[in-house]
Amino acid sequence: MISGILLKGYSGFYYVFAEGRVWECSLRGRFRIRNQEFLPGDRVKILPGTGIKATIEEVEPRRNSLVRPTIANVDQAFLVFAYVSPEPDLNLLDRLIIQVTDAQIKPVIIMNKLDLASTQADPSGKTIAADGMDFYRELGYDLIKVSTKTREGLVELQEQINGKVTVLAGPSGVGKSSLLNALSPDLELKTGDVSQKLKRGRHTTRHVELMVCGEGLLADTPGFSSLYLPEMKREELTDYFVEFRGAVGKCRFANCMHHKEPDCAVKAAVASGMIHPSRYEHYGQFLEEVIAAERRY
Ligand code: GDP
Ligand code: ZN
Repeated sequence: MISGILLKGYSGFYYVFAEGRVWECSLRGRFRIRNQEFLPGDRVKILPGTGIKATIEEVEPRRNSLVRPTIANVDQAFLVFAYVSPEPDLNLLDRLIIQVTDAQIKPVIIMNKLDLASTQADPSGKTIAADGMDFYRELGYDLIKVSTKTREGLVELQEQINGKVTVLAGPSGVGKSSLLNALSPDLELKTGDVSQKLKRGRHTTRHVELMVCGEGLLADTPGFSSLYLPEMKREELTDYFVEFRGAVGKCRFANCMHHKEPDCAVKAAVASGMIHPSRYEHYGQFLEEVIAAERRY
Protein backbone atom coordinates (compact mmCIF):
# COMPACT_ATOMS: atom_id res chain seq x y z
CA MET A 1 0.00 0.00 0.00
CA ILE A 2 1.11 3.56 -0.59
CA SER A 3 0.33 6.75 1.32
CA GLY A 4 -1.35 9.68 -0.37
CA ILE A 5 -3.54 12.73 0.09
CA LEU A 6 -7.09 13.01 -1.21
CA LEU A 7 -7.43 15.85 -3.73
CA LYS A 8 -11.17 15.58 -4.30
CA GLY A 9 -14.12 13.25 -4.48
CA TYR A 10 -16.30 13.27 -7.53
CA SER A 11 -19.19 11.03 -8.70
CA GLY A 12 -18.19 8.11 -6.56
CA PHE A 13 -14.49 8.33 -7.36
CA TYR A 14 -11.75 9.72 -5.19
CA TYR A 15 -8.66 11.33 -6.68
CA VAL A 16 -5.57 10.75 -4.61
CA PHE A 17 -2.10 12.25 -5.03
CA ALA A 18 0.56 9.68 -4.19
CA GLU A 19 4.09 9.08 -5.40
CA GLY A 20 3.97 12.04 -7.76
CA ARG A 21 0.79 11.12 -9.63
CA VAL A 22 -2.98 11.18 -9.37
CA TRP A 23 -4.85 7.91 -8.80
CA GLU A 24 -8.53 7.29 -9.48
CA CYS A 25 -9.70 5.41 -6.43
CA SER A 26 -12.79 3.58 -5.35
CA LEU A 27 -13.63 2.85 -1.74
CA ARG A 28 -13.38 -0.36 0.16
CA GLY A 29 -16.89 -1.54 0.99
CA ARG A 30 -16.56 -0.99 4.71
CA PHE A 31 -16.20 2.78 4.18
CA ARG A 32 -19.44 2.80 2.20
CA ILE A 33 -21.22 0.80 4.89
CA ARG A 34 -20.10 3.29 7.53
CA ASN A 35 -21.16 6.07 5.16
CA GLN A 36 -17.82 7.67 5.94
CA GLU A 37 -17.29 11.17 4.70
CA PHE A 38 -14.00 12.05 3.03
CA LEU A 39 -12.54 15.52 2.65
CA PRO A 40 -9.83 16.88 0.40
CA GLY A 41 -6.66 16.72 2.48
CA ASP A 42 -7.52 13.38 4.10
CA ARG A 43 -4.42 11.19 4.44
CA VAL A 44 -5.17 7.78 2.98
CA LYS A 45 -3.49 4.50 2.15
CA ILE A 46 -4.25 3.12 -1.28
CA LEU A 47 -3.75 -0.19 -2.98
CA PRO A 48 -2.82 0.25 -6.66
CA GLY A 49 -4.78 -1.79 -9.20
CA THR A 50 -4.37 -1.58 -12.98
CA GLY A 51 -3.19 1.68 -14.56
CA ILE A 52 -4.27 4.68 -12.55
CA LYS A 53 -6.92 2.71 -10.64
CA ALA A 54 -6.58 2.04 -6.95
CA THR A 55 -8.69 1.45 -3.86
CA ILE A 56 -8.65 3.45 -0.65
CA GLU A 57 -7.89 0.98 2.13
CA GLU A 58 -7.29 3.21 5.14
CA VAL A 59 -7.82 6.78 6.24
CA GLU A 60 -5.91 8.48 9.05
CA PRO A 61 -7.57 10.57 11.78
CA ARG A 62 -7.68 14.26 10.88
CA ARG A 63 -5.34 16.72 12.53
CA ASN A 64 -7.70 19.62 11.81
CA SER A 65 -10.44 20.50 9.37
CA LEU A 66 -11.76 23.70 7.90
CA VAL A 67 -15.36 24.44 7.09
CA ARG A 68 -14.91 26.94 4.31
CA PRO A 69 -13.28 25.59 2.23
CA THR A 70 -13.87 22.07 3.51
CA ILE A 71 -10.37 20.65 3.68
CA ALA A 72 -8.70 18.40 6.23
CA ASN A 73 -5.15 18.43 7.58
CA VAL A 74 -4.24 21.92 6.42
CA ASP A 75 -0.64 22.75 7.32
CA GLN A 76 -0.55 26.45 6.66
CA ALA A 77 -2.57 29.44 5.47
CA PHE A 78 -1.04 32.07 3.24
CA LEU A 79 -2.41 35.40 4.45
CA VAL A 80 -2.00 37.38 1.25
CA PHE A 81 -1.75 41.17 1.33
CA ALA A 82 -0.28 43.79 -1.01
CA TYR A 83 2.08 46.66 -0.20
CA VAL A 84 -0.14 49.01 -2.21
CA SER A 85 -3.43 48.94 -4.13
CA PRO A 86 -4.88 47.95 -1.80
CA GLU A 87 -2.78 49.05 1.20
CA PRO A 88 -2.48 46.29 3.78
CA ASP A 89 -5.40 46.13 6.19
CA LEU A 90 -3.55 45.27 9.39
CA ASN A 91 -6.75 44.87 11.35
CA LEU A 92 -7.79 42.12 8.94
CA LEU A 93 -4.31 40.59 9.08
CA ASP A 94 -4.35 40.44 12.89
CA ARG A 95 -7.87 38.98 12.75
CA LEU A 96 -6.81 36.30 10.26
CA ILE A 97 -3.78 35.41 12.39
CA ILE A 98 -6.18 34.71 15.29
CA GLN A 99 -8.64 32.69 13.18
CA VAL A 100 -5.94 30.61 11.55
CA THR A 101 -4.03 29.99 14.78
CA ASP A 102 -7.29 28.98 16.46
CA ALA A 103 -7.86 26.41 13.68
CA GLN A 104 -4.39 25.01 14.50
CA ILE A 105 -3.00 26.11 11.18
CA LYS A 106 0.26 27.98 10.78
CA PRO A 107 -0.15 31.51 9.39
CA VAL A 108 2.36 32.66 6.77
CA ILE A 109 2.16 36.29 5.68
CA ILE A 110 2.61 36.86 1.96
CA MET A 111 3.27 40.46 0.91
CA ASN A 112 2.59 40.81 -2.81
CA LYS A 113 3.20 43.67 -5.27
CA LEU A 114 6.73 44.15 -4.01
CA ASP A 115 7.41 45.86 -7.36
CA LEU A 116 5.14 48.71 -6.24
CA ALA A 117 6.60 49.05 -2.73
CA SER A 118 8.91 51.99 -2.21
CA THR A 119 12.09 51.91 -0.21
CA GLN A 120 10.65 54.65 2.00
CA ALA A 121 7.14 55.21 3.27
CA ASP A 122 5.74 58.44 1.86
CA PRO A 123 5.31 61.27 4.41
CA SER A 124 1.54 60.86 4.46
CA GLY A 125 2.19 57.31 5.66
CA LYS A 126 -0.07 55.99 2.92
CA THR A 127 2.53 53.89 1.19
CA ILE A 128 3.97 51.05 3.19
CA ALA A 129 7.69 50.70 2.56
CA ALA A 130 9.08 47.31 1.56
CA ASP A 131 10.29 46.83 5.14
CA GLY A 132 7.17 48.32 6.71
CA MET A 133 5.68 44.93 7.57
CA ASP A 134 8.90 43.34 8.82
CA PHE A 135 7.85 43.74 12.46
CA TYR A 136 5.67 40.66 11.97
CA ARG A 137 8.88 38.65 11.52
CA GLU A 138 10.04 39.88 14.91
CA LEU A 139 6.82 38.44 16.35
CA GLY A 140 7.88 35.07 14.96
CA TYR A 141 5.67 34.93 11.86
CA ASP A 142 7.05 33.93 8.49
CA LEU A 143 6.70 36.75 5.99
CA ILE A 144 7.49 36.25 2.32
CA LYS A 145 7.78 39.19 -0.07
CA VAL A 146 6.74 38.51 -3.64
CA SER A 147 5.72 40.09 -6.89
CA THR A 148 3.69 38.03 -9.31
CA LYS A 149 4.62 40.67 -11.88
CA THR A 150 8.43 40.47 -11.60
CA ARG A 151 8.32 36.93 -10.13
CA GLU A 152 10.55 38.07 -7.28
CA GLY A 153 10.20 35.76 -4.28
CA LEU A 154 8.27 33.05 -6.09
CA VAL A 155 11.02 30.45 -5.72
CA GLU A 156 11.02 30.97 -1.96
CA LEU A 157 7.23 30.78 -2.00
CA GLN A 158 7.31 27.47 -3.87
CA GLU A 159 9.74 26.10 -1.30
CA GLN A 160 7.28 27.07 1.42
CA ILE A 161 4.53 25.17 -0.45
CA ASN A 162 6.48 21.96 -1.03
CA GLY A 163 5.49 19.04 1.16
CA LYS A 164 2.51 20.85 2.69
CA VAL A 165 -1.21 21.49 2.25
CA THR A 166 -1.83 25.22 1.91
CA VAL A 167 -4.92 27.44 1.79
CA LEU A 168 -4.96 31.09 0.73
CA ALA A 169 -6.75 33.90 2.51
CA GLY A 170 -6.80 37.66 2.08
CA PRO A 171 -8.91 40.52 0.74
CA SER A 172 -9.74 40.88 -2.94
CA GLY A 173 -7.38 42.74 -5.21
CA VAL A 174 -4.18 41.68 -3.45
CA GLY A 175 -3.29 39.17 -6.15
CA LYS A 176 -4.45 35.75 -4.95
CA SER A 177 -5.56 34.62 -8.43
CA SER A 178 -2.40 36.07 -9.97
CA LEU A 179 -0.40 34.11 -7.42
CA LEU A 180 -2.15 30.85 -8.30
CA ASN A 181 -1.46 31.51 -11.98
CA ALA A 182 2.16 32.53 -11.40
CA LEU A 183 2.83 29.37 -9.44
CA SER A 184 1.22 27.50 -12.35
CA PRO A 185 -0.06 24.47 -10.51
CA ASP A 186 0.79 21.37 -12.40
CA LEU A 187 -1.77 21.54 -15.18
CA GLU A 188 -0.48 18.27 -16.56
CA LEU A 189 -1.72 16.56 -13.43
CA LYS A 190 -4.85 18.58 -13.22
CA THR A 191 -6.05 18.20 -16.78
CA GLY A 192 -4.57 14.82 -17.65
CA ASP A 193 -6.43 11.56 -18.06
CA VAL A 194 -8.24 11.86 -14.82
CA SER A 195 -10.01 15.14 -15.31
CA GLN A 196 -10.89 14.45 -18.96
CA LYS A 197 -13.38 12.12 -17.37
CA LEU A 198 -14.55 14.78 -14.97
CA LYS A 199 -15.39 17.11 -17.83
CA ARG A 200 -17.97 14.66 -19.06
CA GLY A 201 -19.73 14.78 -15.70
CA ARG A 202 -23.10 16.48 -15.59
CA HIS A 203 -22.39 18.44 -12.45
CA THR A 204 -21.09 21.92 -12.96
CA THR A 205 -20.98 22.91 -9.30
CA ARG A 206 -17.50 23.88 -8.23
CA HIS A 207 -16.10 21.64 -5.57
CA VAL A 208 -13.17 22.58 -3.44
CA GLU A 209 -10.15 20.72 -4.59
CA LEU A 210 -6.49 20.55 -3.86
CA MET A 211 -4.21 21.31 -6.76
CA VAL A 212 -0.78 19.84 -7.20
CA CYS A 213 1.70 22.71 -7.11
CA GLY A 214 5.31 21.59 -7.44
CA GLU A 215 5.75 19.21 -4.53
CA GLY A 216 2.91 20.62 -2.47
CA LEU A 217 -0.87 20.91 -2.55
CA LEU A 218 -2.80 24.16 -2.74
CA ALA A 219 -6.54 24.74 -2.26
CA ASP A 220 -8.11 26.35 -5.32
CA THR A 221 -10.55 28.43 -3.25
CA PRO A 222 -9.57 31.07 -0.69
CA GLY A 223 -10.75 30.45 2.86
CA PHE A 224 -11.30 32.39 6.08
CA SER A 225 -13.62 34.99 4.59
CA SER A 226 -15.54 35.51 7.84
CA LEU A 227 -14.60 38.55 9.89
CA TYR A 228 -15.71 37.09 13.20
CA LEU A 229 -13.22 36.19 15.86
CA PRO A 230 -13.46 32.66 17.25
CA GLU A 231 -15.43 32.20 20.47
CA MET A 232 -13.14 32.75 23.45
CA LYS A 233 -12.99 34.14 26.96
CA ARG A 234 -11.64 37.68 27.21
CA GLU A 235 -8.56 36.45 29.13
CA GLU A 236 -7.64 34.22 26.20
CA LEU A 237 -7.17 37.05 23.72
CA THR A 238 -3.63 37.82 24.92
CA ASP A 239 -2.64 34.24 23.96
CA TYR A 240 -2.83 35.39 20.34
CA PHE A 241 -0.60 38.43 20.94
CA VAL A 242 2.76 36.75 21.44
CA GLU A 243 4.57 40.03 22.06
CA PHE A 244 2.40 40.74 25.14
CA ARG A 245 3.79 37.70 26.97
CA GLY A 246 6.73 39.45 28.58
CA ALA A 247 4.42 42.06 30.12
CA VAL A 248 1.36 40.01 31.09
CA GLY A 249 1.46 39.31 34.85
CA LYS A 250 3.44 42.45 35.62
CA CYS A 251 0.49 44.83 35.72
CA ARG A 252 -0.77 46.40 38.94
CA PHE A 253 -4.00 44.38 38.82
CA ALA A 254 -3.72 40.62 38.55
CA ASN A 255 -6.83 40.53 36.36
CA CYS A 256 -5.68 43.45 34.15
CA MET A 257 -7.20 43.40 30.66
CA HIS A 258 -4.54 45.88 29.47
CA HIS A 259 -7.22 48.21 28.23
CA LYS A 260 -8.45 50.92 30.59
CA GLU A 261 -6.56 49.95 33.74
CA PRO A 262 -3.78 52.14 35.22
CA ASP A 263 -0.21 50.85 35.77
CA CYS A 264 -0.46 48.33 32.96
CA ALA A 265 2.78 46.69 31.86
CA VAL A 266 1.41 46.05 28.35
CA LYS A 267 0.65 49.75 27.91
CA ALA A 268 4.11 50.58 29.23
CA ALA A 269 5.56 48.24 26.59
CA VAL A 270 3.57 50.07 23.90
CA ALA A 271 4.87 53.42 25.15
CA SER A 272 8.47 52.21 25.12
CA GLY A 273 8.12 50.84 21.58
CA MET A 274 8.34 47.15 22.55
CA ILE A 275 4.82 46.53 21.26
CA HIS A 276 3.75 47.91 17.88
CA PRO A 277 0.95 50.50 18.27
CA SER A 278 -1.22 48.93 15.57
CA ARG A 279 -1.12 45.57 17.35
CA TYR A 280 -2.16 47.18 20.62
CA GLU A 281 -4.92 49.15 18.89
CA HIS A 282 -6.33 45.96 17.37
CA TYR A 283 -6.06 44.16 20.69
CA GLY A 284 -8.34 46.84 22.19
CA GLN A 285 -10.84 46.55 19.34
CA PHE A 286 -10.87 42.76 19.47
CA LEU A 287 -11.25 42.81 23.26
CA GLU A 288 -14.41 44.88 22.94
CA GLU A 289 -15.76 42.45 20.36
CA VAL A 290 -14.95 39.44 22.53
CA ILE A 291 -16.63 41.07 25.54
CA ALA A 292 -19.72 41.92 23.44
CA ALA A 293 -19.86 38.32 22.18
CA GLU A 294 -19.50 36.94 25.74
CA ARG A 295 -22.71 38.72 26.73
CA ARG A 296 -24.58 36.89 23.99
CA TYR A 297 -23.91 33.37 25.26
P1 GDP B 1 -7.34 38.70 -6.09
O1 GDP B 1 -8.64 39.47 -6.02
O2 GDP B 1 -6.69 38.63 -4.76
O3 GDP B 1 -7.47 37.37 -6.73
O4 GDP B 1 -6.36 39.61 -7.00
P2 GDP B 1 -5.98 39.47 -8.55
O5 GDP B 1 -5.05 38.33 -8.76
O6 GDP B 1 -7.23 39.50 -9.36
O7 GDP B 1 -5.13 40.80 -8.78
C1 GDP B 1 -5.69 42.11 -8.62
C2 GDP B 1 -4.92 43.10 -9.47
O8 GDP B 1 -3.57 43.22 -8.99
C3 GDP B 1 -4.79 42.68 -10.93
O9 GDP B 1 -4.96 43.84 -11.73
C4 GDP B 1 -3.38 42.14 -11.04
O10 GDP B 1 -2.85 42.31 -12.34
C5 GDP B 1 -2.63 43.02 -10.06
N1 GDP B 1 -1.44 42.35 -9.50
C6 GDP B 1 -1.36 41.10 -8.97
N2 GDP B 1 -0.11 40.83 -8.54
C7 GDP B 1 0.62 41.94 -8.79
C8 GDP B 1 2.01 42.29 -8.58
O11 GDP B 1 2.82 41.53 -8.04
N3 GDP B 1 2.39 43.55 -8.95
C9 GDP B 1 1.52 44.42 -9.51
N4 GDP B 1 2.00 45.63 -9.85
N5 GDP B 1 0.24 44.13 -9.75
C10 GDP B 1 -0.21 42.91 -9.39
ZN1 ZN C 1 -2.21 45.25 31.91
